[in-house]
Amino acid sequence: MSEVNYFKEEFGENYRTEICDYITDEKIEDILAAAEAPDKKEVQRIIDKALELNGITPLEAATLLQVEDENLIDQFLEAARKVKEEIYGKRLVIFAPLYFANQCVNNCLYCGFRKDNNQLDRKKLSQQEIRNEVEALEREGHKRLLVLTGEAPITDLDYVVESIKTAYDVKTENGGEIRRINAEIAPLSTEDFKKLKESEIGTYTCFQETYNRKQYAKLHPSGPKSNFEWRLSVMDRAQEAGIDDVGIGALFGLYDYKFDVIGMLLHAEYLDKKWGVGPHTVSVPRLNPALGTPLDEVPYPVSDADFRKLVAVLRLAVPYTGMILSTRESTEMRNELFEHGVSQISAGSRTTPGGYDKKAKNKEELAQFSLHDLRPIDEIISGIAEDGYIPSFCTACYRLGRTGKDFMDLAKPGKIQEFCRPNAMLTFKEYLQDYGTETSRKHGKQCLSDLMDRLEADNPKLAANIADKLDAIAEGEHDLYL
Ligand code: SAM
Ligand code: SF4
Repeated sequence: MSEVNYFKEEFGENYRTEICDYITDEKIEDILAAAEAPDKKEVQRIIDKALELNGITPLEAATLLQVEDENLIDQFLEAARKVKEEIYGKRLVIFAPLYFANQCVNNCLYCGFRKDNNQLDRKKLSQQEIRNEVEALEREGHKRLLVLTGEAPITDLDYVVESIKTAYDVKTENGGEIRRINAEIAPLSTEDFKKLKESEIGTYTCFQETYNRKQYAKLHPSGPKSNFEWRLSVMDRAQEAGIDDVGIGALFGLYDYKFDVIGMLLHAEYLDKKWGVGPHTVSVPRLNPALGTPLDEVPYPVSDADFRKLVAVLRLAVPYTGMILSTRESTEMRNELFEHGVSQISAGSRTTPGGYDKKAKNKEELAQFSLHDLRPIDEIISGIAEDGYIPSFCTACYRLGRTGKDFMDLAKPGKIQEFCRPNAMLTFKEYLQDYGTETSRKHGKQCLSDLMDRLEADNPKLAANIADKLDAIAEGEHDLYL
């Protein structure tokens, strides 16, 4: 099928072209201009407001982004640390990306999967290859997956739905199974989102890449993705179809990071007003080099210092929203960003279809972009526990129907800690029991014992319940949660 026909058949009359006027270049530029040369007192007021855990407005966030004074920056980095700790404690949710295929009709200038990249070997995993990948991931201890594809007729929605079912059906020894699959695939129509919802996905994620329409047009010269409005309006269609956990993001490095942070916050504000619930997650990927792409350099490089700053501002602005960081970042940077706001990370990731199955031939020629943190999952887990964080494989909220607004209603009064911390402990214990090495077990034991001491002090009844469940897991029980 030609690209044009594919486009028409896929989206037909429903293909939306009207302007989503809640986010415009002018609006974002005006907010940034109004926040220029911030006054010290105003910055302090905003930091105090953020510490009340009710978020800050896009204009207040822009004011923090415009701060250059190192002392003031340190103050809001510290405030973000407190907000993170207050709401999430030391929990870090762990997941793995799983690429089903790398064919794509789009031509995003930065992506190795782009249609015109002749240097890339194309690969669509068969259902058996997907089983092999998922078995390999389960045997490393993964319970949560993010599935991805390019956008192409050969990997249409039926293929994606069948592949998700295949992945959920894979069971391995030690209770190995995937308990939540999130999806990051090209924007769908409402009707197609209804079909996707039936495959029991958790969160639907789609990055706007950049919220600047002019830059977006330059970076996305052809294919369905060149339509900015169709992409920006995607979460309305997901919500219309009943998918109430949605994830947004920008690819930092494509445009001015301040502009894109404000774009993300306006997007979050719009979704909150329209659907009564903001995004479930925000992602903060930074552009990495990809083979066979015309972008020789990052158009708007984001320094580590600016990246730290933007993560902190997002944490203060949307305190209850999960923040996702991938293995695009180095170990050191990831460790730092856990402090300032990140609450979910990928581990042991590969961006190649077929990248996990050790028996299959490898594969870097198939990758979407290169990665920095290539450590195996157990080493990552071990390091996280040693630093006093709890790796969590929890999937309880989604499986108990605590999604969308129900999740946020629980999260906002701080209730989520009562579930998240114990569930993190239970799933971490299960991981250590079934997949841990000597080193991760050593660090994990210490981490769990410190947490139990704290839980006993905060809530003795809950602590007793969790102690019983931890004993049951040590005896071989699986999948215990609150
Ligand atoms: N193809 C779909 C799309 O573009 O929405 C689905 C997911 S695509 C495989 C996932 C994301 O990878 C993109 O949204 C983009 O932000 C990111 N990406 C592409 N090239 C990248 C690069 N060179 N460095 C970092 N992230 C990149
Ligand atoms: Fe295709 Fe997505 Fe890569 Fe763009 S970012 S070329 S749409 S896979």
